[in-house]
Amino acid sequence: MRVLGIETTCDETAAAVVGLAGDGRGVILSNEILSQITEHAAYGGVVPEIAARAHVEVIDRLVARALKAADVTLKDIDAVAAAAGPGLIGGVIVGLTTGKALALVSGKPFIAVNHLEAHALTARMTDGVAFPYLLLLASGGHTQLLAVRGVGDYVRLGTTIDDAIGEAFDKTAKMLGLPYPGGPEVERQALHGDPARFALPRPLAGRPDPDFSLSGLKTAVRIEAERIAPLSARDVADLCASFQAAVVDVVADRVRMGLRAFRQKAGHPTALVVAGGVAANQAIRRGLTRLASEAGLPLVTPPPALCTDNGAMIAWAGLERLRLGLTDDLTAPARARWPLEAASAA
Ligand code: ATP
Ligand code: FE
Ligand code: MG
Repeated sequence: MRVLGIETTCDETAAAVVGLAGDGRGVILSNEILSQITEHAAYGGVVPEIAARAHVEVIDRLVARALKAADVTLKDIDAVAAAAGPGLIGGVIVGLTTGKALALVSGKPFIAVNHLEAHALTARMTDGVAFPYLLLLASGGHTQLLAVRGVGDYVRLGTTIDDAIGEAFDKTAKMLGLPYPGGPEVERQALHGDPARFALPRPLAGRPDPDFSLSGLKTAVRIEAERIAPLSARDVADLCASFQAAVVDVVADRVRMGLRAFRQKAGHPTALVVAGGVAANQAIRRGLTRLASEAGLPLVTPPPALCTDNGAMIAWAGLERLRLGLTDDLTAPARARWPLEAASAA
């Protein structure tokens, strides 16, 4: 079984071919990606219109490249999957329409994949994680704790009430004059900063509902930065380290509550899985490793290139749906908003 997957919901144009291994995991036969970071860097964030145009310019070439790298043609694949949302609608339409056209000309089934579902199922492709598991999805656009009970069976336990974690990293970086995307840059600065220099808040700490709040933390950084301005290189490093330490604490506290909520609603999890670009952060990973071992659970973090947006995760989600007979017709709409709970298997 082999599926072609297409991803264009944000600022990455990606296409991949994924197959199924004997042990039930995925085999990534190709995984092509073109990032638009340089096109958006001047604006300090993703500009939707620029993103959509950039997807149009490269999508055909990228799909051809993914097929070639996997050494297959459209004849050799079993289905075409494309992310149908949630995301920036102009970009979503580019990938979705391309996917539908390829399915139509090849006569293969089409699968409209929920981008969040693809992040949620990636750990099954990489590590063969069994249902049910607790997922922390932490990216630039989303921060959610989910009970993943099956394909199309997700219970949202908690979410952010303001900024996403990645967004908080990006905004903090911007505020401190660091380049976009801010997450990796803040982590780099934090390596040689003092995490104890600034006493920053741990929003919602101890609250039983596993929701997140990040905007107050970001504001606290701004207040400290304004208080000590102009900032030296040392000040920036210390602010980054203090901010990151607060995020690590917040994540550990919220996930601990998430585990409690999971047990109430979905029984015993097989693992704690972290996905989304923020999972690349080593300090957050260390915090979660400690927490998982306390809880007696394996911590599964797919490799960074599969945690951020990519084509393989779309292909894999398509493959999981295809084997359950969950295909879509060519009228499947592009959706700017598409909550995971609505991506049901029914
Ligand atoms: P979504 O998938 O929710 O639509 P997205 O495309 O922005 O949003 P990803 O590509 O999964 O999400 O992740 C990008 C985000 O991850 C950015 O906000 C980035 O700053 C953050 N990020 C990447 N690396 C790190 C890191 N090392 N530490 C902290 N944050 C990071
Ligand atoms: Fe994403
Ligand atoms: Mg991205």
